[in-house]
Amino acid sequence: MNESLYSASMSVHKITGKHVSNRPRWFDLVKIVTGKDFVLPPDKGPGHPEVWKECREIVIDWLKKNKPPPLTPAEREEKRLEAIEAMTGKRPFKRTYATSNGSFYESDEWRELRYQAIKENGARCQCCGRSPQNHGIVLHVDHIKPRSKFPELELSASNLQILCEDCNIGKKNHDTIDWRGDNPFILKGVS
Ligand SMILES: [Zn+2]
Repeated sequence: MNESLYSASMSVHKITGKHVSNRPRWFDLVKIVTGKDFVLPPDKGPGHPEVWKECREIVIDWLKKNKPPPLTPAEREEKRLEAIEAMTGKRPFKRTYATSNGSFYESDEWRELRYQAIKENGARCQCCGRSPQNHGIVLHVDHIKPRSKFPELELSASNLQILCEDCNIGKKNHDTIDWRGDNPFILKGVS
């Protein structure tokens, strides 16, 4: 196993969950993985080539035995996000397949799009015409083609419509009727 000190310390941290200093020595890693100090020979310090070589062997042996299981798709996705965040300083949008509904609806991308959809379509239900101001209803920004079946359209503005809670719950996921446009049930001018 050709393991650098850096990658070994990352692995040790990942496996043990324990804090590893930014500038660890093999000597320090031994303490973390074995739980005890490496016993130094009387005339040699932790930086002595023989000492670090021996410490390195202990750590690498330990890593071989404690090799983490392969990453799941969700973990791989998380790693990808962390890498992008580390480079750009901004948390990118989480891809749907690796996330739950909760995080999609909390993402900045969705919130921005949701706001735009209400702004463009008006703050009223495109099915029954009721509005929060006049009818005390709650508006949902609905995916016409549901995310479960059309994940690629989850951030597509043309796949969105404004529905009140009642209409949206009544609609469920299997109904993909587009209620936008000329809807005879909507009294024009109702706001
Ligand atoms: Zn409605």
